[in-house]
Amino acid sequence: MKDYRLFIGGQWVKPRAGGMFDAVNPYTSKPWARVGEADAEDVDAAVAAAVKAQKAWAATNGITRANILHRIADVIVEHAREMAVFESTDNGKVIRETSSQMLFAARLFRYYAGYADKLYGSVIPLDNTQVFDFTSREPYGVVGLITAWNSPITLLCNKLPAALAAGNTVVIKPSEHASVSTLELCKLFQKAELPAGVVNVVTGAAETGAALVAHPDIAKVSFTGSPAVGRRIAAAAGEHLKPITLELGGKSPNIVFDDADIEAATVGALAGIFGATGQTCVAGSRLLVQRGLCDEVTKRLVERAKTIRLGDPLDPASEMGTVANKPQLERILAAIEGAKSEGARLLVGGGRATGAGLDNGLFVEPTIFADVRNNMAVAQGEIFGPVLSILPFDAEEEAVQIANDIPFGLAAGIWTRDVGRSMRLIPQLKSGVVWVNTYRVVAAQAPFGGTKESGFGRERGEQGILEFTTLKNVMIDWSGKISDPFAIKN
Ligand code: NAD
Repeated sequence: MKDYRLFIGGQWVKPRAGGMFDAVNPYTSKPWARVGEADAEDVDAAVAAAVKAQKAWAATNGITRANILHRIADVIVEHAREMAVFESTDNGKVIRETSSQMLFAARLFRYYAGYADKLYGSVIPLDNTQVFDFTSREPYGVVGLITAWNSPITLLCNKLPAALAAGNTVVIKPSEHASVSTLELCKLFQKAELPAGVVNVVTGAAETGAALVAHPDIAKVSFTGSPAVGRRIAAAAGEHLKPITLELGGKSPNIVFDDADIEAATVGALAGIFGATGQTCVAGSRLLVQRGLCDEVTKRLVERAKTIRLGDPLDPASEMGTVANKPQLERILAAIEGAKSEGARLLVGGGRATGAGLDNGLFVEPTIFADVRNNMAVAQGEIFGPVLSILPFDAEEEAVQIANDIPFGLAAGIWTRDVGRSMRLIPQLKSGVVWVNTYRVVAAQAPFGGTKESGFGRERGEQGILEFTTLKNVMIDWSGKISDPFAIKN
């Protein structure tokens, strides 16, 4: 078993209190690594290292920072396969997804490298032409990045390259359920000669994250995780009046109209809920199907769900891996039992998947419920697992009403051949992302984030880097005139 220490000031540091915890492989259910448990003093040390490095990093010119970010991208591409193996071993996600996620992480480094020397302010013409006014974008200083377990590297790289390109240094707190890939990424930062202290990682559970959020030298927090913890972070940030970005959960509607391409819609629905074993914030967990297509779409989905290949996450032939950890397995199984007892009709799946090659792993059967009403718990709560609710509807307005009748607002899908219909629906759907005739597509250039209880702020795209800057306004009076001290100047 490998032991992973904390990454502070460019060094691998033992936690001061000496605590370690096990990283458990969800495919074998056995510990496979040990990870350091950082306490508040370790967090202090990591923040101090980031503070020490920040001035020089912010003063490094844009092209130099960009070159370093490009070097990191190169090294990630070089080591993409090993990194994918670390991540799949840690969280049970299939290697075909984690492999592409590593390349996407590199893409994000390249995208934000391009911004490092292009963070312009503006010149603002004032009424008083003898005052020169301009704005500039400045880094916050040291930012705290806290991530969830489902896609540690992707979630981190939605934040990290933007934070670095803008001149911030960071302290990262990955999930206690999947910390290893983030620590391995630090080895790549060392290879790419990222200056010491620019990136620091403290591992541990809620207390470690809470110490980071509360730290007076953390100027901003960017968090990806559950709405419950998002609320706690917002409360703590409120106490310290600290800006935050929250990327939280979802219960996204995937809406199929009678005029849709049925094959494309079925594949999109399948990708939406069974891709990543349903452990994705954008899971299309509520499938709204117009009555005319409902039986056929349901039949096709059930047939395909039965043939999804569950297996070793490291086997490229596996289509669905394990659930990432035991508490999550229990939450999913409880949600399935809840759905049965509230009268949803189980069509396929409905429990733990067992059989050859599956018995030691945390596998859940691809599960589909029909006759779901939107007020049922199975339709309202985020399950974060391979559990689909099918809700039929008749009219377009009804689809919009059901789609929005939920506390979340992360993503939505529309399947139709009618461009006018999608143009009518897009502004009515209360979500940060809308996909039309596709689902779960991501791009470095396109902003991503939620509304309502799915959070606020955006990642990726230009907005993603602006979130890591503060805007300064500067006025320079070059008139040489002395003015009345008791009157406001304009
Ligand atoms: P979680 O909220 O339990 O934990 C997320 C992180 O917060 C972990 O690192 C955890 O240790 C830390 N944490 C816990 N309590 C804390 C506290 N009081 N202060 C500071 N940090 C604390 O989430 P999870 O179970 O790891 O992940 C699943 C959730 O993440 C789902 O709700 C999912 O939708 C969401 N998610 C959202 C996005 C998005 O981009 N919107 C992406 C992936 C996952």
